[in-house]
Amino acid sequence: MNHDVTEEQIGTVVTKIQNLGHEVNISRGTKRIVIGAIGDEHKLDPEIFDSLPGVEFSMHIVKQYKIVSRESHEKDTVIDASGIPIGGNQIQVIGGPCSVETPEQMDLAAQSVAAAGCRLMRGGAFKPRTSPYTFQGKGVEGLEIFRQAASKQNLPIVTELMDVRMLDTFMKHDVDIIQIGTRNMQNFDLLKEVGRINKPVILKRGISATISEWLMAAEYIAAGGNHNIIFCERGIRTFETAYRNLLDVTCIPVLKKETHLPVIVDPSHAGGKAWMVPSLSRAAIAAGADGLLVETHPNPCEAWCDADQALNPQEFKDLMGSLKGIAEAIGRTI
Ligand code: PEP
Ligand code: MN
Repeated sequence: MNHDVTEEQIGTVVTKIQNLGHEVNISRGTKRIVIGAIGDEHKLDPEIFDSLPGVEFSMHIVKQYKIVSRESHEKDTVIDASGIPIGGNQIQVIGGPCSVETPEQMDLAAQSVAAAGCRLMRGGAFKPRTSPYTFQGKGVEGLEIFRQAASKQNLPIVTELMDVRMLDTFMKHDVDIIQIGTRNMQNFDLLKEVGRINKPVILKRGISATISEWLMAAEYIAAGGNHNIIFCERGIRTFETAYRNLLDVTCIPVLKKETHLPVIVDPSHAGGKAWMVPSLSRAAIAAGADGLLVETHPNPCEAWCDADQALNPQEFKDLMGSLKGIAEAIGRTI
């Protein structure tokens, strides 16, 4: 629909679709309202709708994912993450520790993330751990510690939401980007809930999810009206055991073709070792990723979680420097 569409005009389109025997899905984003007609699409002709007041354009969509599909929106979407653009020409590197530990650790981490030239910070307060006996995250206290440390450096924060019951708390702590982790990519109730709010969401790829399953998971968020979705490739499980997961670089151009939404890469959980992170990061940027999610810790040997894959502050700074050249070579900035 046009950006200045009225409720009355929406109602006219909805009635028309229903009278033609189809179901309706209205997705209200901050910038656009998309009305979907669900049913046998051969029975509907886009021309019936094109002339109605308030309609920008109408079309058949053959793909199961509609709103996230490039067919529905040709140009790249640039997401505004508290003033930081994700998906435009400028590449964004989101740096920070795997988990929030202490105020001192987060202050040091925020300082090194800002000093390296990053504009966004990561850190987990709720950790999805394989074993129930390992550190599960600092919880709400962690959100407070994170918010304070990042605010001192003016860095918007990215943190993982595991439980729908924590969504209000995330909003109260003004989390700038909500991360949906690998293990929750197909937690459809969680996806529906983050679809109701307007915060940007990073949707990580499930450990063995196909690209089409991943796109459909994003469609769950989009269908609720939240179109601010960022895909994050973080490595998939294969027969290979020499590294933690296999970074699927091929998914970057494929997603870029299939969706207008930004695509970022997490080289840390893919490789699982700090020494692999620079190579994987460079490959991701060269292949067209819009950003990276990288684990860095003030003192990796003492990290409470994922110590092997965290870069120290100097390694992180060096990585940012080396990515500049790659970004320039492909006509982007960092
Ligand atoms: C994380 O980013 O800290 C994390 C747990 O990632 P993933 O969901 O990709 O395993
Ligand atoms: Mn981690």
